[in-house]
Amino acid sequence: MKKNQKNKFYITTPIFYINDIPHIGHAYATIAADTLARYYRGKLGEENVLFVTGTDENSQKTINAAESKGMDVQEYTDETAKKWQDTFSKLGITYSRFIRTTDDDHNNTVRDILTKVYENGDIYKGIYEGLYCVGHEAFMKSEDLIDGLCPDHNKAPETIKEENWFFRLSKYQDKLLKYIEDNPKFIRPESRRNEVLSFIKNKGLEDFSISRESQSWGIELPFDKTQVAYVWFDALLNYVTAAGYGTDEFKKWWPADLHLVGKDITKFHCIYWPAMLWSAGLELPEQIFAHGFFNIEGNKMSKSLGNSVSPLDLVEKYGNDALRYYLLREISFGNDGDFSMNRFKVLYESELANTLGNLVSRTAAMLKKYNNSEYIVNLDVKSLVGLEDFIVNLEFEKYLSEIFSRLTALNVAIEDNKPWELIKNDKKKAVEFLSSVALEIISIADDLKYFLPDTCESILKIFNDGRVDDTVGILFPRLDM
Ligand SMILES: [Zn+2]
Repeated sequence: MKKNQKNKFYITTPIFYINDIPHIGHAYATIAADTLARYYRGKLGEENVLFVTGTDENSQKTINAAESKGMDVQEYTDETAKKWQDTFSKLGITYSRFIRTTDDDHNNTVRDILTKVYENGDIYKGIYEGLYCVGHEAFMKSEDLIDGLCPDHNKAPETIKEENWFFRLSKYQDKLLKYIEDNPKFIRPESRRNEVLSFIKNKGLEDFSISRESQSWGIELPFDKTQVAYVWFDALLNYVTAAGYGTDEFKKWWPADLHLVGKDITKFHCIYWPAMLWSAGLELPEQIFAHGFFNIEGNKMSKSLGNSVSPLDLVEKYGNDALRYYLLREISFGNDGDFSMNRFKVLYESELANTLGNLVSRTAAMLKKYNNSEYIVNLDVKSLVGLEDFIVNLEFEKYLSEIFSRLTALNVAIEDNKPWELIKNDKKKAVEFLSSVALEIISIADDLKYFLPDTCESILKIFNDGRVDDTVGILFPRLDM
């Protein structure tokens, strides 16, 4: 990151369309953001971290979804947004705000920014005729189609001809290119940064339409009541609304430190968004990080295959921490991956239940049996160094891998030292050894709590101030699978 000394941390996830209920892909970005938010709260204090997620509601998709259920659009959005909030709560997501783009303060932000951009001369009227993919909520070029269909959505785009308002994106092309070149960490990972740079260099930036004439649902333009704001222009601005745009809070939070996005929406975040912010006289976020996608058992997740995985079904059976662990350990953040139930069970059994769970329970059990549930607290133990760089750089899998190597080493040390034999002729040595293991587990729990919050809370109850509490229960129970 550009600044080494942060005094606040503002992190966002993408806001999600509400034509669907959350699947595991949505949980992925949100769990990653939650892990970072927990880490920075520990570093900077609770009051200095803002973590925002939410729903993108002013979309044609919303109207279509409401119509297909025969519901009023407002009623539909209220009901669906609630489902998203409930899911994130059940997943233990500690967001500071769940923003909905139908919130009043967001409406005010959008209208205010549109006015500023308009007065700045960056909005003009034109005719748009072209192909529009509702799945993308974006215009498409015929050369992007395969057999007349959008390759991502397998659907023919609609032909739209309307009088729209346009944003002068082309005006910002050179400035943006220079900015991205001068700030190597602005877009990460490197592969996504290179894509954006080559897009700007090879295709160039064209002005884009920021309004819709025919759509009945959305935020009305302040300078033309016959049109509503284009959903992406509206949605991106959620990040400034949630930072308290128009209030004193805004100075504290803006610019955002990190936008986590999916790799399919980098164009909107890395090209449209900076230009919009410049036009409105606002600073750019410090970093945009695009995570990869994962297949489900080797296949692309799709409605037609019906193979989407519900995060709630998984956590009901295995617990929140098992899902968090799988997603951040198995898939290198920024790359694509695969969700496999078999791998999920393997990691649960071998790493969570055996390496971690068993280490905790055998250490606690031996201390109970050999030393009346007491351990020595004033021993020197080593703690893991260099972990912070991994989390700050979003290398979650490396962070977890370091920790689990150490846990494995502790299990090996128990086998080597054989406290069950040592206790027979050198009780002092046996108790010291087991105490040092307990203290190291405590130290590791302190590093691991951002990733496995429930588990680490339990660990810190089990080993608490020199005493072992054996009422906490097993950390990762074996399930007959
Ligand atoms: Zn599409």
